[in-house]
Amino acid sequence: MKITLDPGHGQFGNPGVLAGYYEGTRVYMLAQILKRELEKYEDTEVIITRKDITDNPSLANRGGEAVRNGSELFISLHSNAASNPAAHGVSVFRSVKRPESEKLGRLLGEAVVDTMKKRTDITYLRGVMTRTESYDGEVADYYGVLRSSVKSDKVKYSFIIEHGFHTNLTECEYMFSDESLQEIAEAEAKVIAEYFGLRESGDKPKDYIEYVVKPGDTLSAIARKYGTTWRALAEYNDIKNPDLIIDGQIIKIPVSSEINIGDVVRIKADKDTYYPDGNPFPGWVKDYDYVVAKTADSRGEPVCRNGDRCVLLGNKINRKTGSHGSSINSWASIEYIEKIRAEKK
Ligand SMILES: [Zn+2]
Repeated sequence: MKITLDPGHGQFGNPGVLAGYYEGTRVYMLAQILKRELEKYEDTEVIITRKDITDNPSLANRGGEAVRNGSELFISLHSNAASNPAAHGVSVFRSVKRPESEKLGRLLGEAVVDTMKKRTDITYLRGVMTRTESYDGEVADYYGVLRSSVKSDKVKYSFIIEHGFHTNLTECEYMFSDESLQEIAEAEAKVIAEYFGLRESGDKPKDYIEYVVKPGDTLSAIARKYGTTWRALAEYNDIKNPDLIIDGQIIKIPVSSEINIGDVVRIKADKDTYYPDGNPFPGWVKDYDYVVAKTADSRGEPVCRNGDRCVLLGNKINRKTGSHGSSINSWASIEYIEKIRAEKK
């Protein structure tokens, strides 16, 4: 998904109560860190409205950037100001045109408050609000960045987040620390990732395989088949009554992702070749499991086929009878196989 972050103002915009604090500089840094945190997730692209710290686009161009690049989410980042130095707390403004964004606004506001409050002790959520004005007899957002961002239906979420008050000593001190910006960015990225179901890139491959229970199966029979115990499976799957498993139920079989010589592996059900772009193998190949005869880097040299690490499949094991047969002697990508059980010790 695409996300547009809009660090408010220009470089020396809005000095804080502490010398050297400028809202326009701090939120620019926050945007950079938040971009990095968000782009740790797969298929996430973050565009920042200010091309560098000195850049200070018009309000219309800030919201307009989200429209131009087709972002789903637009967030304008700020710290707040008031003439009363006691004023403090976090405010979230959402576009009046996007009532369905209320929930995400609240989650973001609460996450920022939870993070800040740990150190400031005073920060609270002033609210998730809308502020409107009449434009040509129509109700519109008072804030120009929000108003310009919702000109496209693609921009489904549009917020301003005020990260405390830079006119309040405690909150200004907080926002002045780079560690704080990192904490806030992590908290905001986490909320966004959870809300939109973003996946962390470089996710570890699943460390279990799924077994579908068939009529007549018992947990201990399944456990035997995979070289484990019914107790281990019951615990791993959170099964309260091991005598009660149902046809079609999925039992997760934990496996270690590391493949060693002597491990028993199986070619994944959706594969018809040993490795990417390899020649298709005959149908009988999948009637067997295989004992790993060699791992990819057994001599300190990675063995690869078309970029994937491979292992050498050795002796066949008939899946139905469990009987061992001769060696198949074929290299297979570790991405194309799954480990059924570890080598016998
Ligand atoms: Zn501001």
